[in-house]
Parts: sequence; structure tokens; C-alpha cells
Amino acid sequence: MSDDTLLDRALTRLDEAASHLKIDADVIEKLKYPRETTKMRLMIRMDDGSRKSFLAWRCRYDDTRGPTKGGIRFHPDSSIEEVETLAFWMTFKCAVMNLPYGGGKGAVRVDPRTLSKSELERLSRAYMQAFARVVGPDRDIPAPDVYTNAMIMGWMADEYSQIVGQLSPAVITGKPIALGGSLGRNDATARGGYYLVRHLATELGLGAGMRIAIQGFGNAGQYYAQLAGADGHKVVAVSDSAGAIHRADGLDVTRLIAGKAAGRQVSELAAELGAEVIGAEALIGVDCDLLVPAALEDMITVDNAPSIKAKVLLELANGPVTPDADKLLEARGVTVLPDILANAGGVTVSYFEWVQNRQGFYWDVEEIHARLLRIMEREGRAVWDIAKDRNTTMRTAAYVHALSRLATAIEAHGTQPFFTS
Ligand code: NAD
Repeated sequence: MSDDTLLDRALTRLDEAASHLKIDADVIEKLKYPRETTKMRLMIRMDDGSRKSFLAWRCRYDDTRGPTKGGIRFHPDSSIEEVETLAFWMTFKCAVMNLPYGGGKGAVRVDPRTLSKSELERLSRAYMQAFARVVGPDRDIPAPDVYTNAMIMGWMADEYSQIVGQLSPAVITGKPIALGGSLGRNDATARGGYYLVRHLATELGLGAGMRIAIQGFGNAGQYYAQLAGADGHKVVAVSDSAGAIHRADGLDVTRLIAGKAAGRQVSELAAELGAEVIGAEALIGVDCDLLVPAALEDMITVDNAPSIKAKVLLELANGPVTPDADKLLEARGVTVLPDILANAGGVTVSYFEWVQNRQGFYWDVEEIHARLLRIMEREGRAVWDIAKDRNTTMRTAAYVHALSRLATAIEAHGTQPFFTS
């Protein structure tokens, strides 16, 4: 087993991208390490009167291009290493999309399902009390991530506003609409991926009536199914944490979503949808044109990647394909639309929320969609062109695109040749 950490593995993307560009060594030195990671212990009073403490972190990886931006995760397996790696990814994701942000991330090591609603509110407010000195509308702007949601963002924005003594909605995004959230944030991640695939469909060899398999039927997966289904494509398989179902003629997406909203697993809906129950792993090898990983990290590995029949993967999840599986897919000619581009619609609409909070003027949903479409198509096309020009994968091209923007910003402060000439 290698001693490489998660962050070491993520940094190999940086080295690979750098090999395609002429950039100063100063740039790599700056991007190799997280700039600031704060660790705190949150203490809250539990409903039974006891005190309990939880480890929490906030990482600001790099802020050369603007205040840092990234979600807060509540998860029992969260670690400093995971937070720093996710903050590294956010740095590149914001640069790919040309958003005026650096990358950040936060987490609390907790299983939120074990907390009551009041305990969850106290924990969310305690996070903001602990990190109020670190975050801020011009410094670091959190958002929801795994097991955090709009209501939690609303509590945190309120806590921050009380601490600084003025309403400061722009400190956090993903808030409820009534508290300064943006229209169009709910489906933004899926919609960004949908615009990307639609824009590059001809180049990707995808056409009308394509067959789609979706791994993970939560926020990102459900909205993607809805958007693609409305366009006449067929969702032939979906999975959740409890299992997967398949129907070669296409599943009824509306009934699937209604079933999930009623708290049922997809496998429980198989009979009424005329679908067969298959193993979760079997979903990956289903006969389809587009596979959409929309669940968790490291789901596609060297063990299951050989079974993939799709010609394109759309990474709505963060880091769903391991680096070794990535190489295998490249060798087999499968195109992977990488997470830092494919799921960046979410952070892009978060950026719109921040802009609207600061200007105090709110856009209608048509305006949000039009702006998202413009950015997705512009940056998707740029990454596609880099991949063709340099004969590389879309993932490497996305990192090259982001790194050249980061390098331009870092080099604008002067690098070694400037100071020694
Ligand atoms: P979610 O919690 O709403 O949905 C996750 C889904 O994955 C659930 O249906 C769950 O049952 C399923 N799942 C869990 N384990 C599984 C397994 N082993 N096999 C199959 N399915 C499994 O989360 P989400 O917001 O849709 O996020 C999904 C992914 O997209 C995550 O990687 C997240 O980081 C990424 N992402 C989400 C957003 C966003 O705006 N929601 C933005 C960027 C990236």
C-alpha cells in the first residue's frame, strides 16, 4: 500500500497539468500546499443536558484569484486531509469556470442523523461562532455540501450576522430563497452538466434519444434525470445506496422522483415501473451511451471500470473515478467529462447568489439559466479545444485551463525571473 495521502494523489493532477504549460516554479510552490487550515473543537449542549464536542475544520487553500469558496460537510468520516483535498479541487473548479474565487472547504466530524433538530441548529451555529474570524464575504464563503442544506446555511448566515452586528447574507451561499438564496440553485449542478453534454453532444458522439445510467439518485442525479428526460433521452438505469434498477426501454422519471420523495428506495419502485432490480455494481456495466456518477468519491475503480459500456462519463459527483480507473478509461477511449467542469454549475450559481446579495438586486430564474448556459458553454468549449490541441483527456485539459488562469494571477505578483533580473 502506498503512503500517498489523498492530497498527494490530487496533486499529481497539478504536476500533469504543469507539464503541458510553461509556468514558473513559483506557481507550483504556491499551489502545492493549503494556505490556511483552522482546526477547532465545537462544544454544544445536547438535549439530555450533557456536553459534547466535535472536531471541525475550515481550509482556505488558495486565494490568489479571490475569496475562497467551498462547502461545509457534516460527516462521521471527515478528516483534515479530506477537507484540504476538497479545497484544492475547489481552487481548480473556480478557476476552470473563471469565477473570481479561490478554493476552500469545511467539515465537522459528526453523523448528523444522530442529532435532534435542536442539536443540529446548535452545532451549525457553533461552527459559525468558531470560524467567524476565518470566513467573510470578502475572505471565505461557505456553502452546503454532503449532509448540510439550505436551512443550515440560513442558521450560519444568521449567526455570522449577529457576530458582526449587521446582516451579511453574502457570507454564505445555498441559503433558503426567503433569506437571500438564489433562484435556480437547486438544480444548478445537474443543469450545468446537462448544458455541457448538450453543447458538446456532436463531438462526444451522442445524439437524440441517448440511453443514460445514473449512479446515485439524490439532488444531482434526480435533476439530471428530469432535464435529460424532458429532452427525449432515456434514463435506463438508476441506483441509490440500497440498490439499482434497470429498464432498457427507459424508466418513468417523474414516478421515480415522486417515489424517492415519498422516502422509498429505487429498488422498492422496480415492480410498479416495470423494471428489474440489478446489483449496484451492475449499474456501471449497463448498456448505455452516457454514465452519470452522481453518488460519492472513488466509486469507479480498476475493478469495475472494464465493465463500462458507455462512451461518455459525466462526473456530477466529486472524484468518482480513481486515478487508475481514469487511465484505464482513457486507454479504452471512454471520454470522461471531469468533475471540476461537469459539476461546476453548482458553484457558478452560488457565485450568482453572492453577486445578488452584494448588489441587493435579484435576478429571475431565466436570467440565472441564461448566465449559467453562457459560462458552461464557454468554458466547456475551451476545455474541449485544449484537449484536442494537446491530445489529452478532458480532465487534464480542465486542469491545464485552470492552472493557466491561476498561473497568470500568481505571476502577476512577480516570480523569480522578475526579482532576479
Ligand atoms: P445527495 O445526498 O442528494 O445524493 C447522493 C445519492 O447517492 C443518494 O441517492 C444516495 O442514496 C446515493 N448513494 C450513496 N451511496 C451510494 C452507492 N454506494 N451506490 C449508489 N448510490 C449511492 O447528494 P448530491 O447533492 O446529489 O451530491 C452527489 C454528488 O455530487 C457528491 O459527490 C457531491 O459532492 C457532488 N456535488 C453535488 C453538488 C450539489 O450542488 N448538490 C455540487 C457539486 C458536486
